[in-house]
Amino acid sequence: MTAHAAVPPIIEVDRVSKSFGDFKVLDELSFSVAPAEKLALIGPSGSGKTTILRILMTLESIDSGHIRIEGEELYHMEKGGRLVPADEAHLHRMRAKIGMVFQLFNLFPHMCVLDNVTLAPVLTKGVAKEAAKRRAMELLDMVGLADKAKAMPAQLSGGQKQRVAIARALALEPRIMLFDEVTSALDPELVEEVLAVMHRLARETDMTMLLVTHEMGFAHDFADRVMFFDRGRIVEQGPPSEIFTNPREERTQGFLRKII
Ligand code: ADP
Repeated sequence: MTAHAAVPPIIEVDRVSKSFGDFKVLDELSFSVAPAEKLALIGPSGSGKTTILRILMTLESIDSGHIRIEGEELYHMEKGGRLVPADEAHLHRMRAKIGMVFQLFNLFPHMCVLDNVTLAPVLTKGVAKEAAKRRAMELLDMVGLADKAKAMPAQLSGGQKQRVAIARALALEPRIMLFDEVTSALDPELVEEVLAVMHRLARETDMTMLLVTHEMGFAHDFADRVMFFDRGRIVEQGPPSEIFTNPREERTQGFLRKII
């Protein structure tokens, strides 16, 4: 599939199905992601892209199939035949591998930027406060916001809030980062600054990154592989140069004609 094919995958989604009521959002979906790969998920609204990210974060469960992160099962079968996240200790360990940045920057409004970034490492990983602060300052510097460490979220622009949200997710040192339409709630003039940070992350780290986006130009420059989804299935996937310039499937062509 890609140059990474010989390396064991960091994420394996294996025949995963998921319904909300009668509506089947994911239908026997299978794909894998190689370590350090940058994967963009594109497709029409409602095709199941966000649901995939939420399932990887165990914010939604699955009906059937397997998800393995670094070879370990994320969900297991409960008595009664329901798939649920594994026990608390396992879940905690698995969740620590994955960070997510959401469409709406959900910073803690009553805490300054620095406290937003240090809270989780101190509380959930037992990192010493001073060490967490030092690391947070490095991360804020990387997202260009070291001078806002003491600011409150309400004093920041949307783009700045989203950059803090990225720094906050990175503070837990995940191996996998999920980005769910992180620019779609932003005013157009603020989109670039957030994309620039993500570009830098993609270039300078070996984190595995999954990105749901409507920014096709960004997906093109950022991703090693683009997956086009429709109705819970992968219609087509490949390097951005192929998917964007020479899509094989009619549904991909139609989608790209509308959006670009
Ligand atoms: P996308 O990210 O591609 O826009 P989503 O994964 O957000 O798609 O949603 C896929 C479908 O599942 C949509 O029709 C959405 O309304 C539905 N859906 C998502 N989450 C829920 C939920 N918690 N309860 C019921 N329906 C949901």
